[in-house]
Amino acid sequence: MATTLWCVNRCAYCSFRSDAPIMMPLEECERIGRAAIGEGAIEALIMTGEGIDRHRGLRGQLAEWGFGSYAAYIAEICRRYLDMGLLPHTNIGTLEEWELELLQPYNVSMGMMVETVSPEATHIAHRAAPTKAPELRLASLEAAGRLGIAFTTGILIGIGEKPAERIEALEAIANLHARYGHIQEVILQPLNPQEGTPMARWMRPGDEEIAELIPEVRRLMPGVHVQVPPNLVDDLPSLLEAGADDIGGVAHEPDYINPDRPWPKVASLGPQLLRKNMTLRVRMPIYDEFIDAGWCPPAASAALGSQLARRGEIEAESMEVS
Ligand code: SF4
Repeated sequence: MATTLWCVNRCAYCSFRSDAPIMMPLEECERIGRAAIGEGAIEALIMTGEGIDRHRGLRGQLAEWGFGSYAAYIAEICRRYLDMGLLPHTNIGTLEEWELELLQPYNVSMGMMVETVSPEATHIAHRAAPTKAPELRLASLEAAGRLGIAFTTGILIGIGEKPAERIEALEAIANLHARYGHIQEVILQPLNPQEGTPMARWMRPGDEEIAELIPEVRRLMPGVHVQVPPNLVDDLPSLLEAGADDIGGVAHEPDYINPDRPWPKVASLGPQLLRKNMTLRVRMPIYDEFIDAGWCPPAASAALGSQLARRGEIEAESMEVS
């Protein structure tokens, strides 16, 4: 769910952002949440453009609605989603510690891609993206660690970085994880060039470039899950055989960032994986081991308990069918 498409950044591969400073009112967010839960959704993924508070008009809109910051507004949306039984996972980019603190009580986990630490890739893809400076990204990731937020992050592959710089980005993530233990999964996301963007003629990296990074994540961060986006790769089963173990959320809504690459259908993906002796399993937006270790905020425990019970029912039904 995207509350606004406006963004302070202009990443050279982005077809998502809009110049229109329009923000979705709370009532509309609630309507979307109710529709999602009616369709059986578990997670409310909240993602938007970044640096919203830097826009004077949007700041004014937030103040009119009674919010002192965009983070406070998103926290209220998350609070309402929890009341409905949805599990919020907010990914609204680089955040300072006080913003993370506002969001933490109402999110079972949060996310933000580090994307790259390469100076050259930053110059090519993020020259006009002030919140994508690698040091700000890593500072945000560190603040999440200090606060004890279960966190999803990852790297973007193929935006001008050298192969060794991909490993450097993973090492930077691993260093923070070694200190705080808060990284639950690392996403290996290939660039998917979009028409109408400055990087439209770039190549989408092949699966082999993702495959060679999977053992690196395993080596640097044992126990951390590895996600490959199922709609951005050619041969998902092979990447799972290579050691990736997560395909992220297959949403009811389209992939806003990659509208040309629809999600796979779960009904066909399950049997396809079963033929390779792999089972598709429902997971929560906070991984089981983080639940067991007490990382879920207290305000989310009722919603989490209900969704875990639902998962148990789904798994029991599928066992009866098979
Ligand atoms: S990719 Fe994200 S941060 Fe970059 S311009 Fe698009 S919406 Fe903004």
